[in-house]
Parts: sequence; structure tokens; C-alpha cells
Amino acid sequence: MFRRTIRLTLSLVMVVAATLGGVMFTAGSAQADECYTWGRTLSEGMSGSDVTQLQIRVAGHAAYGEVIAVDGAFGPATKAAVTRFQQAYGLPADGIAGAQTFSRIYALQDPDCTPVHFTYAELNKCNSDWSGGAVGAATAKANALRTMWKLEAMRHALGDVPLTVTSGFRSYACNSAVGGASNSRHLYGDAADLTGSPSLCTLAQRARSHGFGGIFGPGYPDHNDHTHMDGRADRSWSAPNCGV
Ligand SMILES: [Zn+2]
Repeated sequence: MFRRTIRLTLSLVMVVAATLGGVMFTAGSAQADECYTWGRTLSEGMSGSDVTQLQIRVAGHAAYGEVIAVDGAFGPATKAAVTRFQQAYGLPADGIAGAQTFSRIYALQDPDCTPVHFTYAELNKCNSDWSGGAVGAATAKANALRTMWKLEAMRHALGDVPLTVTSGFRSYACNSAVGGASNSRHLYGDAADLTGSPSLCTLAQRARSHGFGGIFGPGYPDHNDHTHMDGRADRSWSAPNCGV
């Protein structure tokens, strides 16, 4: 709580400084966040690891049916996603990531880089070290982080309603134990199963606009008690009982 207060205070100082001084972004913000701090304003045409970090956080603000590439290259899709992020949080929407956009991201993330409403533990009820899946542990964990930022975007779009994740990353052993498909995206760490409210059909519909390429819900075999979403690039949607 104390650290959060410091972060918010620093964020406010950044905004005030930017407003009063007409400064877009300054190095004075360098200590603003414990997870990751951006050091320059980012706009279309730029590239780098800081663009990658930005893409991870805005990838959930996708167009309908779009899966935004996290490739470190700030192209039109990234600009559009930044614009939607800005609109979602009431910021001036110009598609350029500067002080105000970064301040909002800092306020949305925990020190371990997860978005405030989701945790690594929530996305991994299988084992403690992300091992035993179809990819290395670090990749599985990184994929889960990307999934969480998409869920954070969807949660916000649904009116800041809590979302319940019942299954995320699975090792082969965990996947077999729950009867998962042999090629399940859960083995890669980039899938999440959701239950509860909002309804499974609402979740299946909304997930289409938050960067999920794989979406399976009510009416799809073995998906009447949860809605599955994952980050595959090739679209595969099925929730026949929802009419979608
Ligand atoms: Zn699933």
C-alpha cells in the first residue's frame, strides 16, 4: 500500500510536470515504477525492447478478431492499440505513448509486472516453477504474463468486474490429469479458463476484442462449464450455444 502510494504520487508529479512545463517526457520519472520504467516517448516507426514492453501491456486493447504481435516494432497495430488503451482510461488518445500513458500503466501493474487484478499464482495452479510444459519455464511464465494483460483489458472493458481464472499454465502431467487436449495451449502458458460471472457467453464474445485467437465456450465439447481463451495467432472460435 505504501509503495503504491509512492508510485501514484510520482505519477502525479510526472503529469503535473508535463502539463506545466510543456514537457512530453523527462528522465526525472526514472524511479516511477518497480517493474519496468520507460525512458522515452514511443511512437509509430520506433523499435526496441521498450516497445515490446509496451506491446505486452496494450495487446489486450485489440480490434475485433485481432491478435497484436509482440515484436518490438511500433507499427500501425500498436498505435491503434495504444489509442484504444488511452480511450479506455480517459487519456488524450493520440496513439503516442508518453508520460500520461506510462503513468497509467504504472498504476495498473504490480512490482512483479503482473496487472493489478491478476497474479502468477492465479495463472498457474499446476506447479511452482512453470516446468514440464510444451515450452521452457521462462517462456511459459512470460506467456502467462501476456495473457494476464489481455484479461486486465477485458476486465476493464466489462466494467471492472472481477474475473475468475480456474486454469492457466499446465505441465503435461497436470494437463493429462484434467483431461486436457494433447496439444492444449495451456501447455504453453498462454491460455486461461474462466468461470463465474459475467456469463460464459459474454466472456466468449468479449474475448474476441481483447487479443485472444483461440476461444471455446458453451456448446464446444467439454466447455459447458468454462470459457477458454488463448493467444494463438490463427483464429479458432467456437461457442455454439452462445450463437457465436
Ligand atoms: Zn482451456
